[in-house]
Amino acid sequence: MDSTGQTAEFERRENITKNSILVVEDDKLIALELTNILTPKYIVYLSRNGADAIELAKELKPDIILLDVVMPGMSGFDVIATLKGIRETSDIPIIFVTGLSNAKDEEKGLVLGAADYIQKPFTPSIVKLRVRNQVKIINQMRLIQHLSITDTLTNTANRRQFNTWLDQEWKRAVRHKSPLSLLMLDIDHFKVYNDNFGHLQGDTVLQVIANTIKKELKRPLDLVARWGGEEFAILLPDTHMAGACKVAEDIRASIEKHIIMFEEKTPTRVTASIGINCIVPEHHSFIERFVSDADKSLYRAKETGRNRVVTSEAL
Ligand code: GH3
Ligand code: MG
Ligand code: MG
Ligand code: MG
Repeated sequence: MDSTGQTAEFERRENITKNSILVVEDDKLIALELTNILTPKYIVYLSRNGADAIELAKELKPDIILLDVVMPGMSGFDVIATLKGIRETSDIPIIFVTGLSNAKDEEKGLVLGAADYIQKPFTPSIVKLRVRNQVKIINQMRLIQHLSITDTLTNTANRRQFNTWLDQEWKRAVRHKSPLSLLMLDIDHFKVYNDNFGHLQGDTVLQVIANTIKKELKRPLDLVARWGGEEFAILLPDTHMAGACKVAEDIRASIEKHIIMFEEKTPTRVTASIGINCIVPEHHSFIERFVSDADKSLYRAKETGRNRVVTSEAL
């Protein structure tokens, strides 16, 4: 990579981790000053009026909005009321930056849902600190949200998240009369593996299996979750039985041939059994039955020798 390419790559990586801020300010000089204050640490977008700001906020979903109150056309109070009423923008923290200095105005801004209030003329260091505080809060909230729906060992969805997805995809499948497939995967003789190699190595295997499954899932709507212990659930929307069998067989084969190294000690392998169910759900169908039939197929795969794929059609 040449030096320009390296610079571009560096900027791209930096931008992925940087928080973004939308500055809404009609006064050119103040807008410039705020941009200069914030640009070193954040990706800054600028809007000069309320109507454009609402469109930009919907499109860019900035992490924070700095909002002027007195502007031609829509005032900052109108803008915040609109943003709070739109699903995609209602949670974005908004900091008012305003020359209005009476307590009534400040109160109005806070009542409308502003996270903070900065007085003009402002001191750059105070702007930086107030913005930093809000950024910290939003980043921590996102982390908590992420952890509440993630299995941290395998970095896949947890069961709670899986249930939310299943619910959504089920309803969608009913509406579109489309097939929905579910794969239940369980590692074979994993207790013996743990007993032989220890739990730490067992944990590494779970991570390897999760990554192997993710690699085999090609469609953006395919979902994998850790169902519990050494079991994974894989939901394939808009996928009929033949397609689900192909994906399951690819996952099974990929796990079987994968050599797992743990701290460069003995190379090991594991196998997994997979049960499949597929349904075109109707209003009167039951989700519980859909899941338990996939589970029954998995048990059949275990009973009939393991390291294999069994469908609910074979039950
Ligand atoms: P089968 O082929 O019938 O599935 O046999 P199995 O030994 O895999 O099944 P069993 O249900 O008897 O045991 C599951 C084992 O999975 C028990 C435990 O040792 C292991 N296990 C479950 N969760 C974890 C985990 O988070 N980490 C590790 N290392 N092992 C786990
Ligand atoms: Mg103004
Ligand atoms: Mg199990
Ligand atoms: Mg098992």
